[in-house]
Amino acid sequence: MCAAKIHDTSHITYESLLEGNQQFVADTLKIDPDYFTQLSNGQKPPVLWIGCADSRVPANQITNTKPGEIFVHRNIANMVVHSDMNMLSVLDYAVNVLGVKHVIVCGHYGCGGVIAASGHEQNGLVDNWLRHIKDVIRLHAAELEAITDQKEKVDRLVELNVIENVHNLTATSIVQNAWKNGKDLSVHGWVYTLSTGFIKDLKVSLNSSQNMDSVFKFR
Ligand SMILES: [Zn+2]
Repeated sequence: MCAAKIHDTSHITYESLLEGNQQFVADTLKIDPDYFTQLSNGQKPPVLWIGCADSRVPANQITNTKPGEIFVHRNIANMVVHSDMNMLSVLDYAVNVLGVKHVIVCGHYGCGGVIAASGHEQNGLVDNWLRHIKDVIRLHAAELEAITDQKEKVDRLVELNVIENVHNLTATSIVQNAWKNGKDLSVHGWVYTLSTGFIKDLKVSLNSSQNMDSVFKFR
């Protein structure tokens, strides 16, 4: 196996996706003839996943879960940006309508967004989105500057970006109100390793506003 070889996608075409769908339906019905009828009745996922848009980090496959089991929001570099109406709408719906018990921010090592944010090249519009990661760099400058190995430094930045976005979740009125109202809700930070397939739990889980920075705390 050559380490530099990238997964071949040359067989993927517009038509092959539709053929793939036909195959998916046929295979699924063979195992469970009621599968789609039952799924169409509604959803009650216990988890909200906030992950990276990267094609190599699909929430269901890497957690061995099925459709209907994880509510998913993905964007470049798994960000929780307090003014992002898309993320806030997903979070509010997941917590207050679906009643999820867990919100997981899952980053991944080798994240193109994090790598770009750690450098100085322009990449277009996305640089404005990645600006939030530059804030993470500024917040943790002392720790990051002490790491001499470039790969190690970016790996740590991936972790710190997840941790900051878990904190960003707790700073939302949505999560704080859920806790104030006694809802069973936990937030977690994970990192996925592309080269092994394993997820690392950063052990930054929170289920109350008790230990959060007072400046972000609502009454
Ligand atoms: Zn990524």
